[in-house]
Amino acid sequence: MKNTKELRTWLDDMNLPHPLVIAGPCSAETEEQVLKIAHELKDSDVNYFRAGIWKPRTRPGNFEGVGALGLKWLQKVKEETGMKTCTEVANAAHVKLALEYDVDLLWIGARSTVSPFIMQEIADALQGTDKIVLVKNPVNPDLALWLGGIERLYTAGIKNLGAIHRGFSTYEKSKYRNIPEWQLAIEFQNKFPDLPLICDPSHITGNREMIQEVSQTALDLNFDGLMIETHFDPENAWSDAAQQVTPTTLKQIMEDLKIKKETETAVSYREPLESLRAQINVVDDQLIDLLGKRMKVADQIGQLKKDQNVAVLQSRRWNEILGNMVLEGSNRGLSEEFVLKMFKAIHQESINHQEKIINA
Ligand code: PEP
Ligand code: MN
Repeated sequence: MKNTKELRTWLDDMNLPHPLVIAGPCSAETEEQVLKIAHELKDSDVNYFRAGIWKPRTRPGNFEGVGALGLKWLQKVKEETGMKTCTEVANAAHVKLALEYDVDLLWIGARSTVSPFIMQEIADALQGTDKIVLVKNPVNPDLALWLGGIERLYTAGIKNLGAIHRGFSTYEKSKYRNIPEWQLAIEFQNKFPDLPLICDPSHITGNREMIQEVSQTALDLNFDGLMIETHFDPENAWSDAAQQVTPTTLKQIMEDLKIKKETETAVSYREPLESLRAQINVVDDQLIDLLGKRMKVADQIGQLKKDQNVAVLQSRRWNEILGNMVLEGSNRGLSEEFVLKMFKAIHQESINHQEKIINA
């Protein structure tokens, strides 16, 4: 996976004025529940409506999702609200059904990313699809495993790719449900700066009170979007009740988030910055050139001193130089401390040059 620029065309093509927003319930529960939430999210910043159809649960006996039946409800969401839809797929059968029902975006859950067997099965089933596929990080903080999963999809010809950061499970007690380990996400961005990266503050926090704060951190770290679990009655949700927010709260969160407008800053910030940096480069070249010239003169002085058998260090002359330069520096807005430090370094290098000649 080398040229990652093409991986973000799907996101760039959407030309969004804000980060990508995916919202909707953790699980599709009933047709009414799905449609009610979808209609409440219709006139908001939400780009994709999410709902889990097949739910991976830590222990058996909990609600495990409504299954393929829910795909019909997602189709209704699309017809009635115009919102695009997405769901989690965890095996080849899920992929087949989701493609059949024309789900627009598929994501792979944290419990699937940990298994190279499952990732390969999903990649094979998705072979060549133009659907958007997002890969959640594995439950354990293993960057290679996360990248490996994405690479399996890329190799299967899936080009509309992205990643979702949902935090990592830990044995240690923490205020988070899954600790964010932000440095891992930063490392991920450094390796693949063009691969869209979405944050899932719902599964990181496990607690709706912290969604705003974690979302803001993600945006400050240049994440491309957010996936936030949303339900009209969070307390009574059939899964992840503590972390879901109402559609009203979601809209408030989006309003309160400080969003950096990339496109606006691109013109007013990047262009002059680039030109100023070019100017700095020119002056730096001149500085190095002048310092080189100064040392060549020092070499000649060294040769003279050698011929005349004179000591290298001559304090009176040196104090004279320092006094003059501090004065000249202050005329140019340079602090005395800086001028002294810089000229001491230059003087030391000068002495080294002269000594090399004298001792040659
Ligand atoms: C989910 O998005 O509802 C989900 C199960 O997420 P994760 O795979 O991050 O646990
Ligand atoms: Mn969930």
